[in-house]
Amino acid sequence: MSNSTTNSPADVRRRCIVIGGGLAGLASAVWLAEAGQRVTLLERRGSLGGRTVAMPVSAMDDVPDNGQHVFASGYEHLFRYLESVGTRNLVAFPGHMTVREPGGRTRRSSFSGIAGARTAFGDLAGVPLRDRPATALAQARLIKDVLRQPADLDTITADEWFRRIGLPASARASLWDGIVIGLTGDKTTITSAKVPADLLRTGLRQAIRHRTPISIGYPTVDLDTLFIDGAEKVFADHGVEIETRCVAKTIEVADGKVVGVRLNDGTLLESDAVICAVPVWSLGDLLVQLPENDRIKATVDALTPVPIVSVNLYLDRSIGMTDWGEILLGGEGVLEQVWDRQLMHGRDTERGWLYSTTVSAAYELVEQTPNDITELQMATLRQYYPEAADAQVVHSHVVKMPRATFAQRPGTAGIRPDQRTSVTGLALAGDWTRTDWTTTMEGACQSAARAVDVILGQA
Ligand SMILES: Cc1cc2nc3c(=O)[nH]c(=O)nc-3n(C[C@H](O)[C@H](O)[C@H](O)COP(=O)(O)OP(=O)(O)OC[C@H]3O[C@@H](n4cnc5c(N)ncnc54)[C@H](O)[C@@H]3O)c2cc1C
Repeated sequence: MSNSTTNSPADVRRRCIVIGGGLAGLASAVWLAEAGQRVTLLERRGSLGGRTVAMPVSAMDDVPDNGQHVFASGYEHLFRYLESVGTRNLVAFPGHMTVREPGGRTRRSSFSGIAGARTAFGDLAGVPLRDRPATALAQARLIKDVLRQPADLDTITADEWFRRIGLPASARASLWDGIVIGLTGDKTTITSAKVPADLLRTGLRQAIRHRTPISIGYPTVDLDTLFIDGAEKVFADHGVEIETRCVAKTIEVADGKVVGVRLNDGTLLESDAVICAVPVWSLGDLLVQLPENDRIKATVDALTPVPIVSVNLYLDRSIGMTDWGEILLGGEGVLEQVWDRQLMHGRDTERGWLYSTTVSAAYELVEQTPNDITELQMATLRQYYPEAADAQVVHSHVVKMPRATFAQRPGTAGIRPDQRTSVTGLALAGDWTRTDWTTTMEGACQSAARAVDVILGQA
């Protein structure tokens, strides 16, 4: 006799919709699928990846990234995602980067071993002997503030914080202003001191917990291979439906519960649960039926967009980089970091040498034309790399992202909303929701892990 009261697994799986195919949405969809849910992923664009994508450059028959993405050794949820999609082995942590001065002088920087000890004692590239004792003292005060978190840190900018602890200008130019831009994506004069302080505390805790020094890593492949190809295999294995060129308009709520997602064309997709993983600036009317919509809108207004300009520069020769990634001392606003794709990806040079450049908080550069940006950056490269003196540009692929990341100004601590909402079956994800990190890939993945926990916890 058949047992008519027992549900087959297909009957008990809840229908979950994930809106947004960036890292937060991808990780949410992968983890919901792994947990046995029926998942549909909606993405507005024609392809997945959001802000972490490879972009075709037909002139070079190549698919470089939209911008260099680096990994902090303290990232956990991002590595969990890479484990899920089978690409964890495609991230390298060489343990060093190089700081380069105009004229070509270089110095390797590292937070471990002898180099780490030299850093602690203020012996940094570009810091004269007379500034080293003050640098060492200020760095000790900085660590104390990071660990103790004085109550007023969210009332001052990082610039005011550095002045307060007496960090010499040379140490800021050499290391600390760059660290703030690297961690928060924005200038020291804009970002709240609490943001880098929180991130440094998270990094220190991770380093102590895992007994490894803080280091920076990079993908050894393009971003699509790293993040998307493996996810698509997981989706195929678990029957996840992907709808691209599909714009979600409103999340439909009835009696305090999610009932589905209304698309731009008026179609209603019914569902038991929704994870909304769109960027903060794309919320539109998605959450309009949520009681806390006004509060979330206020958050949207408080997080201001920060531009990043990245360039994939194809040159006719090597410029003689000595490390995978080099930070140009004094290159602020024009050319701050250069990445050697030959060293990072093992590229052959048949189509030219590919160097990727990044400028964060590129408020002025983003207004320039691609031609002007290329000329400015080539002029800077020639100042720093003697071998670039006669280098010719084979092709330049300029990627301007006016809304690459967001800034948190003083007074904004704690305003980012939680993943849990007041509506049953609805969770938020995305780098702008509350996490231990700022606008990062790790923040996106941590938000996804928490959003998935909320949804599964309500099952
Ligand atoms: C150039 C650059 C360099 C960066 N460098 C680093 C770095 O070195 N290290 C680091 O950790 N982080 C870095 N970041 C930040 C990191 O990329 C982001 O924080 C992260 O990728 C954000 O992921 P997300 O899923 O929250 O948002 P997104 O990637 O923006 O994904 C959101 C998705 O939602 C889709 N969407 C929007 N509205 C709708 C709708 N109504 N319906 C359906 N779909 C919709 C969008 O099309 C998009 O695909 C960088 C970012 C940029 C741009």
